[in-house]
Amino acid sequence: MSVNYAAGLSPYADKGVCGLPETFNSPEELKVKVETLAQLIKESQYLVVHSGAGISTSAGIPDFRGPKGVWTLEEKGESPHFDTTFEDARPSLTHMALLGLQRAGYLKYLISQNVDGLHVRSGFPRDMLSELHGNMFVEECEKCGRQYVREKVIGVMGLKPTGRYCDVVRSRGLRACRGKLISTILDWEDALPDRDLNKADDASRRADLALTLGTSMQIKPSGDLPLLTKRRGGKLVIVNLQPTKHDKHAHLRIHGYVDDVMKQLMELLGLDIPKWEGPTVCESSTATSESNNDVKPPHAVTAKEKVKKDLVKEERKREASELTGDGSIKEETNKLYNCGCTVPSV
Ligand SMILES: [Zn+2]
Repeated sequence: MSVNYAAGLSPYADKGVCGLPETFNSPEELKVKVETLAQLIKESQYLVVHSGAGISTSAGIPDFRGPKGVWTLEEKGESPHFDTTFEDARPSLTHMALLGLQRAGYLKYLISQNVDGLHVRSGFPRDMLSELHGNMFVEECEKCGRQYVREKVIGVMGLKPTGRYCDVVRSRGLRACRGKLISTILDWEDALPDRDLNKADDASRRADLALTLGTSMQIKPSGDLPLLTKRRGGKLVIVNLQPTKHDKHAHLRIHGYVDDVMKQLMELLGLDIPKWEGPTVCESSTATSESNNDVKPPHAVTAKEKVKKDLVKEERKREASELTGDGSIKEETNKLYNCGCTVPSV
């Protein structure tokens, strides 16, 4: 499916300020600023990152209000350029660095306005992620709320029925839920998903450091969440090439490509950027955290299952190295991997 998901939305007049000029810090300025950011992250107790379309442009997905953004070009009567499809898009360096920051314990919560599904496909734990505007790969049961992460885009937008039904069996031996599955992608006037918005709101209030990456923060309420952190005494750091709506509230503003900033940041923190090995879904950040959730993640992995999965993986590795003789393991690259649970396929 084309990445022009915007074309599937209703016409809407107020798309905010588009096409503002971009500013670039000099390499020296950038270095100093990223050092400051690294220090702030080291000192923080609760870092929340807010991501926008700017972190996916290097993955070939156009943003909205950048110089070549979807809405900027629309104003000029032009069409955006797409380098990829959602299914083929690979997580950017920034997506993977965020996963590294989470694994290292620095990043406590991630809030995204992106619908491209790249955070989930990068393997970022879904219980530490709010996708406020939906996800092209996720459909949800309107009866029980169960979500299904698919390998292919759902192809329907605006919270409309996808034509599929929920197959969750509520109790042993009984009938499946059979609720209608609906798209999770919001249209302009749709309300944000309660669960994701509440978690994002809580995390933003709890945070002592809010880092925004590639968002002009013009869409409400998503764009205003970083201000909750500021209001409660936390700091706000903005990484964006164009001016943003909340520049005056920022403790630090960095004008550079997000991938450059994240690469330098990870080096300064002494962290590796995880390698992407194909689409992966990770439901839970810790094997036991699911017991604290009101809504059990649909395909949560239990501690026992994870250990088992790891053992199986190890065994396969051994078998593979015995077979190839050189220790190399051939992996399929375009398969939806899972962190230990089965993803239902359509
Ligand atoms: Zn259901």
